Amino acid sequence: MQHDVIVIGGSYSGMAAALQLLRARRSVLVIDAGQRRNRFAAHSYGFLGQDGADPADIAAAARRQLETYPTLTWIDGLAETASGQKDDFVVMQQQGAQHRGRRLLFATGVSDTLPDIEGLQDRWGVSVFLCPYCHGYELDNGRIAVIAIGPMSLHQAQLLPEWGEVTLFTNQAVTIDDASRADLEGRGVVIEPAPIARIEGHADVVLSDGRKLPFAGIFTASRNMPASPIAELMGCALHDTPFGAQIKTDDAKQTTVPGAFACGDAARVPHSLSLAVGDGAWAGANLPSVIGVARRLSRSIRLRRSAASRVAKVRPLPRAAPRSACASRPARCCPGRAAGRPARRNRSSHRETDRPS
Ligand SMILES: Cc1cc2nc3c(=O)[nH]c(=O)nc-3n(C[C@H](O)[C@H](O)[C@H](O)COP(=O)(O)OP(=O)(O)OC[C@H]3O[C@@H](n4cnc5c(N)ncnc54)[C@H](O)[C@@H]3O)c2cc1C
Repeated sequence: MQHDVIVIGGSYSGMAAALQLLRARRSVLVIDAGQRRNRFAAHSYGFLGQDGADPADIAAAARRQLETYPTLTWIDGLAETASGQKDDFVVMQQQGAQHRGRRLLFATGVSDTLPDIEGLQDRWGVSVFLCPYCHGYELDNGRIAVIAIGPMSLHQAQLLPEWGEVTLFTNQAVTIDDASRADLEGRGVVIEPAPIARIEGHADVVLSDGRKLPFAGIFTASRNMPASPIAELMGCALHDTPFGAQIKTDDAKQTTVPGAFACGDAARVPHSLSLAVGDGAWAGANLPSVIGVARRLSRSIRLRRSAASRVAKVRPLPRAAPRSACASRPARCCPGRAAGRPARRNRSSHRETDRPS
């Protein structure tokens, strides 16, 4: 069976796209490996109507709603490779399962590579975070550590004083010039140059000189790459972002491979549930029109061919009469007009009969 669209990645952005497609009565295959990026966090914040909910519950509710549409097929598993071209893509899974689709949508999310500090990864999504808007409020104006990974970490340190007392650990990843130092200190940020040895307890930063500094939470930036290489291997171009790389798309979310689209964290910055869902909905809303155009085109080509063969069997039609001639001979040229129907309709019927191509 050939699906209208194969969506690779069935989390927030993939499901948001699938929902639009299903509501346009497209047949959609979703293949999802079940590794949402926020799976480490027990609560998701900042997503309207679901603030504080378990992110797994948000995804499960969305999936239940999708499953009420008869044109959905859902496979829990990994898509290994994608190949082909517009109108005939092939997605392969392990053990050789093969799926065909007219369009592809990559909603694969991104991977997070954290600074290599003992104890950091274990606390990711629990007391180590990325986004102040997602997890800053719950720190209750407490002490916040920012662990630098490069110059862009200065922006994080500038932002976070809105949520508590900030210490910036440069950790040999960034050099701070005088202007930035003055700016940070003006915001009350303490700058700590000693390298970090490890993270302990809830969010205690242990320095190489032996000091142990407790915090309500730690923020750092991760390096991001699409969570799966499948789009890149198929030939979709990536482009750099301040935090890594993402799949390159145009405004309609089409990648550099015609007929293959991408959305969500894998294809936009910045990242959040709201933005991923919006991006997915936009991709999903664009896809049916693209497919629809293809369908309409092939139908109009068929119609033109049959019209052309009909025309070949009859006398050629006269050229369009000039408007003045038309006005003087209404009954002959514009039967509708003669019958008192509005002139606008008759003008359009001119176009249809006079130009049969
Ligand atoms: C620790 C943490 C906490 C966060 N907390 C919040 C928060 O509180 N609020 C907020 O708004 N945002 C939060 N975010 C950001 C949020 O998680 C992302 O913006 C969101 O998950 C992006 O959705 P997505 O659908 O694009 O990708 P993801 O949710 O990452 O989903 C991608 C899906 O694609 C699947 N996949 C990938 N490759 C393949 C393949 N080859 N075959 C099949 N399936 C594949 C994955 O298994 C996964 O299910 C958090 C992020 C992190 C890291």
